[in-house]
Amino acid sequence: MNVETVTGPISVDQLGKTLVHEHFVFGYPGYSGDSTLGRFHYDEALKIGIEVALKIMSHGVKTVMDPTPNECGRNVRLLKDISEQTGLQIICGTGFYYEGEGATPYFKSRAALGPAEEEIYEMFITEIKQGIEDTGIKAGFIKLASSKDEITDYEKMFFRAAARAHKETGVVILTHTQEGTMGPEQAKFLVELGVNPNSIVIGHMCGNTDVNYHRRTLEQGVKIGFDRIGLQGLVGCPTDQERIAVLLELLSEGYANQIFLAHDTVNIWLGRQLVVPEAALPAIANWHPTHIFENIVPELRLAGVTDEQLNVMFNQNVKSLFTKTRTIATN
Ligand SMILES: [Zn+2]
Repeated sequence: MNVETVTGPISVDQLGKTLVHEHFVFGYPGYSGDSTLGRFHYDEALKIGIEVALKIMSHGVKTVMDPTPNECGRNVRLLKDISEQTGLQIICGTGFYYEGEGATPYFKSRAALGPAEEEIYEMFITEIKQGIEDTGIKAGFIKLASSKDEITDYEKMFFRAAARAHKETGVVILTHTQEGTMGPEQAKFLVELGVNPNSIVIGHMCGNTDVNYHRRTLEQGVKIGFDRIGLQGLVGCPTDQERIAVLLELLSEGYANQIFLAHDTVNIWLGRQLVVPEAALPAIANWHPTHIFENIVPELRLAGVTDEQLNVMFNQNVKSLFTKTRTIATN
């Protein structure tokens, strides 16, 4: 048993078809202060979560990794209830968001007064080994994040603490990159810190349309996420067609065994509900957690992507990710 889900440990063989980056719940830090007009209703959230889980499962998905950072409304009790009522396996993480949009004052003030990096490590290890809050639910991976064009000193505390926790436990690391930057640098930094590249997913790589940026990352042996499919034109994202062109090139170069496809959906916003300007609505009309299966997979097949390559991306890579054997980067 080497994968911790919100309902307990499973073996890698039980993972099955997996989406590695979907949020059941997410709130930008500060949402909790808008508590009158943006109040959280547990039963409504659970209802939406169950609907979403069932919709995802109708496409054969068995497992979802939910990388909501701790300070962005991670809610492991809700995830457990969704999982128990649907049978969808959900893996939650432990980690904080990038400096620009995370809740930085807490660990910055800790850092000003003492060894915050040590405390971050303690947080990771406790949530991985003992559990989150008093639930006994364990984090199945560490979530890291960096800024646009930079891994800041604040963010580096989390990277170093995560590497330490990884070396002790073999825990998987999944990241956020901002606006298509720092993918190769995140991979290099983590590998230099001693993290097994096989255990790393560099996230939001599909925010960058330069194939060389992808090659420089993949050559380090890490896995990458084309994990914002359907999210177009917002938060610095390119279009799906631009993403697919890069993906097809990487698949033709033999990189299927290092690529994950997901949507980075947010299914329940904390605080008041999201308001998207009318002009931006068409671009995100397909930003929902079954878009890949309904629209993208058929297009990939037409472009010559094989069943085997799809099987590798949806089923095999996640098994490899959670298999704690050390592999050496081949390039
Ligand atoms: Zn995300």
